[in-house]
Amino acid sequence: MKTPSPAGLVWQVTANENAKSVEEREAVLADPGFGNHFTDHMADICWSEKGGWHRPRVSPYGPIQLDPAAAVLHYAQEIFEGLKAYRHADGSIRTFRPYENAARMQRSARRMALPELPVDIFIDSLKQLIAVDADWVPSAPETSLYLRPFMFAKEAFLGVRPAKKVAYYLIASPAAAYFPGGVQPVNIWLSTHYARAGKGGTGAAKTGGNYASSLLPQAEAHEKGCQQVLFLDEGKYLEELGGMNVVLVKKDGTLLTPESDSILEGITRDSILRLAADRGHQVEQRPVTLDEWREGAASGDIVGAFACGTAAVVVPIGRLLAEDFEIVHPGAAAEELALSLREELTGIQYGRVEDRHGWMVRLDA
Ligand SMILES: *Cc1c(COP(=O)(O)O)cnc(C)c1O
Repeated sequence: MKTPSPAGLVWQVTANENAKSVEEREAVLADPGFGNHFTDHMADICWSEKGGWHRPRVSPYGPIQLDPAAAVLHYAQEIFEGLKAYRHADGSIRTFRPYENAARMQRSARRMALPELPVDIFIDSLKQLIAVDADWVPSAPETSLYLRPFMFAKEAFLGVRPAKKVAYYLIASPAAAYFPGGVQPVNIWLSTHYARAGKGGTGAAKTGGNYASSLLPQAEAHEKGCQQVLFLDEGKYLEELGGMNVVLVKKDGTLLTPESDSILEGITRDSILRLAADRGHQVEQRPVTLDEWREGAASGDIVGAFACGTAAVVVPIGRLLAEDFEIVHPGAAAEELALSLREELTGIQYGRVEDRHGWMVRLDA
């Protein structure tokens, strides 16, 4: 079957003959966890220096054949994105600000010397996959279908230079409610020995290597009884967690969040800050030192903090633990604010709250 797309590409669609039965699928959707199960299909598009973007396909989900010399396996020339498809009460399937993900993937591509996927092709890939795997979008409260676009260097060549052959893929994984028993504050470990990014590095690109370098400090955090790790920039400025941005809450309701060219600019953070600004909160985005947080917490000027990202949406930070000090935020005001912003944002995403910014994009029509 061939499906022409508004982006001008003709998608070759091959149905999965071994697709899960309705019963098997329903069993997965009843308890999907996160990142464990995948839908019946995947989408991919090839890129070559000579041919540009070509051969868009939707095909049965399955292993990718790669030459052992494929550049990504050696030099980590790779980027990815993450967004969710939500089932609304009327049955329609929508996603949240996908044009931002498409634009960010282009910025990541530039930094990693990968080709930029045109925005309309990115959006089209989401629609093409949903067209065949719509039944995989769960409908239970706070569940979603997590969409994972990614791109990697597949040219078989061991020289160090940008690859001349690249692949873009899109896979999808049903996701359970992140906090089935209600949102719980997390404890954060301050990493002082390790950085995830540096000046001029790849911190602002959504690239696998940033995650690889966060795994060891993340394991250290777990040993200290913390769920996440906070990284510093130049040993001094707040940066972000391994996969979530951080926001501090001041006594007067001002939201303060770090600005730095080594931070991954989260779409969740941007959205939360806009919703807060709509409510009349001041928003400050500027370099923030760890000392400012410590002193603010001690004086009562900073009353709390939260982390945000697509997977968990918004999570209050209960405690920051470091080698020789800790920050604990007593009092519930900041936590209440974080949870109420979370409620508003998820309300928009699931269609319970008016989408006054026009953030939602329909994928199944
Ligand atoms: C993806 C990501 C985030 C969150 O971005 P969202 O667009 O909000 O999901 C934050 N930090 C890092 C390092 C990330 O990779």
